Amino acid sequence: MRVRGPADLHTHSRVSDGTESPAELVAAAAAAKLGTLALTDHDSTTGWAEASEAARANGVDLIPGMELSTRLGWQSVHLLGYLFDPADPSILAETERIRSDRSTRAEAMVTRIAHDYELEWGDVLAQTTPGATIGRPHIADALIARGHVNDRGEAFATILHWRAGYYEPHYAPEPLEGVRLVVAAGGVPVIAHPAVSRERMLPEDYLRRLVDEGLFGLEVHHRDNSEAGATRLLELAAKYDLAVTGSSDYHGTGKLNRLGEHTTSPEVLERLIARATGWAPVIGS
Ligand code: AMP
Ligand code: FE
Ligand code: FE
Ligand code: ZN
Repeated sequence: MRVRGPADLHTHSRVSDGTESPAELVAAAAAAKLGTLALTDHDSTTGWAEASEAARANGVDLIPGMELSTRLGWQSVHLLGYLFDPADPSILAETERIRSDRSTRAEAMVTRIAHDYELEWGDVLAQTTPGATIGRPHIADALIARGHVNDRGEAFATILHWRAGYYEPHYAPEPLEGVRLVVAAGGVPVIAHPAVSRERMLPEDYLRRLVDEGLFGLEVHHRDNSEAGATRLLELAAKYDLAVTGSSDYHGTGKLNRLGEHTTSPEVLERLIARATGWAPVIGS
């Protein structure tokens, strides 16, 4: 199956930490002249239905997906999963566990922050769509609403930084388990922004294990990958026959990332769709 270009394979809606509804996001993609959009909210597929309907109405092709939180030791690893079965019991159970612990963890962070700043849990809930995957960006929005910081960037550089003393990690499975879950549900896994900093890249022997479990690709073209890191990722992609993707990681007004600032080639997209058995792209009319 073929979908239209250009294709942006990593975006967020209010179902996680984006600032637009899934339908608004699809409309923004149409306005930005994208042919194909992947919706990849953190740890949730709740936006798929609304985004699919909007894709059909807006003449945009949609690849339903998710950005699964995983962790290797202290290192957070984001795994993009595309076109898997959203009703797969193992994926449902694991994402439910992650979302639930994210909420507990956010509340614990707010309790710590409240020792030093005027802030309540209700402030965070007021910034969150019911049922959404809660993250630090929602705490950031609450801090903005209270006037403690001017934008999410400032919140992350100060109060929400892990060194600030309020940080708390949340539950996440190992990347290997994440790849297994996505593949078992008929989906296609791609490591998101794998070279945010060179030091924090996955060890090569661990990457090889992910390849053996069915890893499809690396998100090489992403604004947060360092230049040296992206070069190294291209070498690794060639060595292990991994696909190279590019995406914006658009979060609406929550980040500077613009729709379509990086895109994925039609060849890679065709291979990705051919590999999936859990779900099909939605073709906009
Ligand atoms: P969490 O997963 O709750 O620890 O929060 C991480 C999320 O915060 C990521 O998904 C990013 O989208 C977002 N984020 C990280 N750094 C920034 C930043 N400087 N400005 C805005 N959003 C950020
Ligand atoms: Fe995010
Ligand atoms: Fe991410
Ligand atoms: Zn993302």
